Amino acid sequence: MSKTVLITGASRGIGRACAQVFAQNGYSVAIDYNKSERQALELAQQLREAGCDADCFKADVSKSSEVRALVDWAMGRFGHIDVLINNAGVSLAGLLTDMTDTQWAEVRGVCLDGTVYCCREVLPHMVRRQSGCIINISSVWGVRGGSYESGYSAVKAGIIGLTLALSKEYAPSSIRVNCIAPGVIDTDMSRCYDLTALAQDTPLGRVGQPEEIARAALFMAQSGFITGQVLGVDGGFGM
Ligand code: NAP
Repeated sequence: MSKTVLITGASRGIGRACAQVFAQNGYSVAIDYNKSERQALELAQQLREAGCDADCFKADVSKSSEVRALVDWAMGRFGHIDVLINNAGVSLAGLLTDMTDTQWAEVRGVCLDGTVYCCREVLPHMVRRQSGCIINISSVWGVRGGSYESGYSAVKAGIIGLTLALSKEYAPSSIRVNCIAPGVIDTDMSRCYDLTALAQDTPLGRVGQPEEIARAALFMAQSGFITGQVLGVDGGFGM
């Protein structure tokens, strides 16, 4: 029986790369998307053509009812969820004093509420099997704090707190909960910034590729004695 990974926000960027890398490594892939339906359908089709069992479902992770429907769908379609990757995210730049309630609700809703809702729905299934692995995607800003990105930094730090707490709470059920804190990765999200300048600020002298985060996620999924960790995959940016 192949293992199943459920990835939120897998239509583009890091989530999409995770879907591809896990598929190449024998996983069945449940793809969540919100707005990018065409890309999600295309990805599922590509993965199926490559011999992987893959399918996609539209769910806005900031809405608990849609997350419930997503997990019900994934359980019905694949029978089990072995790995959950909470990747869906939106960024928010600007001074805290300029941030509107709507902007705060969006960044908190997608990044933090979404991660909480997905964990809450998937964990009972993992507990029943006494097995499972959750990988939350935080950010180097969640570790270090980013000037002009205080709202985003706050929710990404919240994801780290959630990871550490859940890793303790669910270790007795043999469920591992870890976190990846990417540095600057070349995706739609980061392309509105000056990537050349950010590469210069990165000790390795370049930005990362989505596949590099996906390979770190696969490593965490396959490393049965690692839990409660925050892995910086950032070219040294978080040092
Ligand atoms: P991206 O290219 O902008 O992709 C974001 C993904 O999140 C898309 O697939 C999008 O799906 C999905 N998403 C957004 N809102 C959603 C919602 N309400 N419900 C479900 N899915 C939603 O960004 P990325 O760079 O791959 O980011 C992935 C994760 O890495 C995020 O959590 C981000 O904060 C984190 N991160 C990124 C960087 C970086 O430099 N790129 C650095 C540190 C951390 P649709 O298009 O279908 O709506």
